[in-house]
Amino acid sequence: MLFLVINCGSSSLKFKLVETSSEQILNNSDKILVHGSVQDIGQDISTLEIHDGGLDIEKELEITNHHEALEKAMQILESDETGALKSIEDLDGVGHRVVHGGELLSESVVIDEKVEEQIEECIQFAPLHNPHNLAGIRAAREHFPGTPQIAAFDTGVHQTLPKKSYMYAIPRKYYEKHGIRRYGFHGLSHRYLRWRCAHMLGTSSAEIKVITCHLGNGASLAAFDGKTVIDTSMGFTPLEGLVMGTRSGDLDPAVVTYIMQLEDFSREEIDRVLNKESGLLGLSGETNDMRTLLGLMGEGNERAELAIDVFSQRLKKYICAYYGLLNAADAIVFSGGIGENSYAVRQRAVSGLDGLGIVPDAAANEELVGEEGHFSADSGNTDLMVIPTNEELMIARDCYRCLKN
Ligand code: ADP
Repeated sequence: MLFLVINCGSSSLKFKLVETSSEQILNNSDKILVHGSVQDIGQDISTLEIHDGGLDIEKELEITNHHEALEKAMQILESDETGALKSIEDLDGVGHRVVHGGELLSESVVIDEKVEEQIEECIQFAPLHNPHNLAGIRAAREHFPGTPQIAAFDTGVHQTLPKKSYMYAIPRKYYEKHGIRRYGFHGLSHRYLRWRCAHMLGTSSAEIKVITCHLGNGASLAAFDGKTVIDTSMGFTPLEGLVMGTRSGDLDPAVVTYIMQLEDFSREEIDRVLNKESGLLGLSGETNDMRTLLGLMGEGNERAELAIDVFSQRLKKYICAYYGLLNAADAIVFSGGIGENSYAVRQRAVSGLDGLGIVPDAAANEELVGEEGHFSADSGNTDLMVIPTNEELMIARDCYRCLKN
């Protein structure tokens, strides 16, 4: 079956055309036929890019909203220029990445009026994401009126969290009245990593105990006992947990109110500090980009080194905590721009843990850049792996399952 997978941000629309089937899912041979994006929607000039095996198209256009962005992208996909899609009728469905599904939307679903209302209700929890996800859904419904639209949620798999992992130790009325609890994010990536890891180890994902580390600009871990997430590091919002590019991750909540008082900050101002000015950027005072920081550390920049050390130590703490919660893990998987590419961060995160049976092979680790592979030493009990994530593939597979069911 053929699916268009769409991921909408405030000024962007990314898309992939994916071919999948039961057999292809089993063999991990589903195909991404074309991928592309429209960036800077609503600016004077927007850029539309489309790439596939032999094709590189880049155009500058004036695009004012997500509807126009989808229309222009589809015009090119359907044109003789690409031949990627012979006709809209060939499309079996459109899959949408939706950041927040709240407590009700735990599984990927075919979108009807009720689901759309529920996604709208979750805007209160994800005001920066869900409105744009909805814009993509509405644009796609207008553009492909008879084609099923499917929503897949970043919070979805984390709805398997037990209550003791998702409740905050604050008065429970805040959960009951306002839904304040830990939701978790990056769920599509974590789910893909668990599935692929089980596949690579030749076991079933229902049986595996695995810690998945998605380390990009945003970063989070999940601990899977089979198909259940027993804990994950992001919480009510993506601010909790690991040190990230520009987000602080965990900190004493008293620091927040103290800075607000000292600097006379509004909620928006403190939000900006914690989400946009902290993390690797805040610590280094230079950049949020890990690759640049690794270069600076190589030149002897101490603040860059400190930022990398704080990032890696927080990661190591979470890995150890999850290893304990799981009572040992079959595998620890690294992914995202940093997890897939940075030997130095991976090595720091899992060194000195031989007591737990976690032993990296430094040479094998150094060789792994942006590709699947293992880097555990023979003396370890836990497989250490790198798996490039593929959230769009997960969405396309969910579309397939939703329509088959
Ligand atoms: P996003 O969350 O925006 O999707 P990515 O998954 O693309 O982020 O990850 C971006 C991060 O990955 C950046 O900090 C970048 O520097 C880092 N990164 C990319 N390539 C490398 C590399 N070769 N070595 C170290 N870090 C890298």
